[in-house]
Amino acid sequence: MTMIRCISPVNGEVYAERPAMPLELAKQAVAHARLAQKSWAKRPLDERVKLVLAGVARLNEMVDEVVPELAWQMGRPVRYGGEFKGFNERSNYVASIAADALKPLVVEESDRFERRIEREPHGVVFVVAPWNYPYMTAINTVAPALMAGNTVILKHASQTILVGERMVRAFVEAGVPADVFQNLFLDHETTAALIAARSFDFINFTGSVEGGRSIERAAAGTFTGLGLELGGKDPGYVMADADLDAAVDTLMDGATYNSGQCCCGIERIYVHESLYDAFVEKSVAWVSNYKLGNPLDPETTLGPMANKRFAATVRNQIADAVSKGAKALIDPKRFPEDDGGAYLAPQILVDVDHSMEFMREETFGPAVGIMKVKSDAEAIELMNDSQYGLTASLWTKDAERAASIGRELETGTVFMNRADYLDPALCWTGVKETGRGGSLSMLGFHNLTRPKSYHLKKVTA
Ligand code: NAP
Repeated sequence: MTMIRCISPVNGEVYAERPAMPLELAKQAVAHARLAQKSWAKRPLDERVKLVLAGVARLNEMVDEVVPELAWQMGRPVRYGGEFKGFNERSNYVASIAADALKPLVVEESDRFERRIEREPHGVVFVVAPWNYPYMTAINTVAPALMAGNTVILKHASQTILVGERMVRAFVEAGVPADVFQNLFLDHETTAALIAARSFDFINFTGSVEGGRSIERAAAGTFTGLGLELGGKDPGYVMADADLDAAVDTLMDGATYNSGQCCCGIERIYVHESLYDAFVEKSVAWVSNYKLGNPLDPETTLGPMANKRFAATVRNQIADAVSKGAKALIDPKRFPEDDGGAYLAPQILVDVDHSMEFMREETFGPAVGIMKVKSDAEAIELMNDSQYGLTASLWTKDAERAASIGRELETGTVFMNRADYLDPALCWTGVKETGRGGSLSMLGFHNLTRPKSYHLKKVTA
């Protein structure tokens, strides 16, 4: 029997394991989901919304278990209290717009015709979720998919293997029928086989570019709808008129929070030459304040990376950049807890350029490169010089200038004077290798449903 294991970054030992589900059993689970979907979709929308929110509330009651469990699984320091803020914010917001987002688009309602476009659930939605924000990334699709009348099968990352199980337990205890929302422990082969067998009506995959490619390959020829939310290399651009302290605070937080393991984390920063020296100096001071350590210790502000494998990628990228002329500004002695494994000190690199992998490939760790620029044109060219495009963070007092630069950027979201935040009212989407589709917002609901046109001609006697 294949076991799926979470190796804890806290101590490098197996924290949890579950047997991978054999294909035949997984197919039965999907069949149950398909059967349950028709009656779930027939329930009134407000009943579905209430049940989903009850599941969210039930999970909140489990906070004392969820928070340390997360620390053990992926290293998030307990002092941050899990992911409840964003988890609740997104769930409540999508609940508040569900009726509006799903209402029919009426074209004509006259004595002669009824013409309208209604939204129908796809059927069975498959959610494949990553470990970095394991609850928030999953709820982005799980909540609106269920509210819209789909049933959901969740496959969570091995690193956060207990998260799917816990979410489903909370939802079922709150009254969501067991076949409506299921968590399956699946290995990659079984996942691909289910997709290739056309088991699902829509798939939302959040994860790496390579993972996204595998899912797309498995789905080839099945015509299954795909939402792919993949990697990023998000830039910040600090203009000469920026509020320097606010820029340092938000961009350094965006680069290092969650040990830099955020899809929209800041990975490269371009600063106007007039502010460059001050920006670098303040950033080094900001980052040096972290307390790296055991995530179960309430004093710890920076936990280990989720896996020593991920930390090794960051170390290799830094070493490669330094060998090519980059300068590392954080003295490793400041962080004696850096153990060469999952516990990794934050780092700031200067004298970097785009020939270095560190400035091109996703780093996904608490390390960021800073470059000096002379003009908007240079900054735009550098920001667009990437295979990814999730968010870009612009720092200026001039909203018109930010909007005009934003129009030139190849990105899913343009931020001005903020970064690293998912606004549930806006569409979360990316361009280039960051994927396609979009979640949250009204458009997220549209992606989790399909349009059905009604063209009814009335017979007049
Ligand atoms: P990952 O290795 O691609 O895994 C993501 C999920 O996909 C996990 O559940 C994983 O299962 C599964 N998976 C990966 N390859 C698969 C395959 N060939 N067949 C079936 N399932 C497969 O990504 P990750 O390391 O967990 O997450 C980090 C990545 O996610 C980063 O690149 C980050 O930028 C991206 N991300 C993007 C967004 C966004 O909104 N754009 C949000 C969050 C994260 P196993 O764990 O069992 O391998």
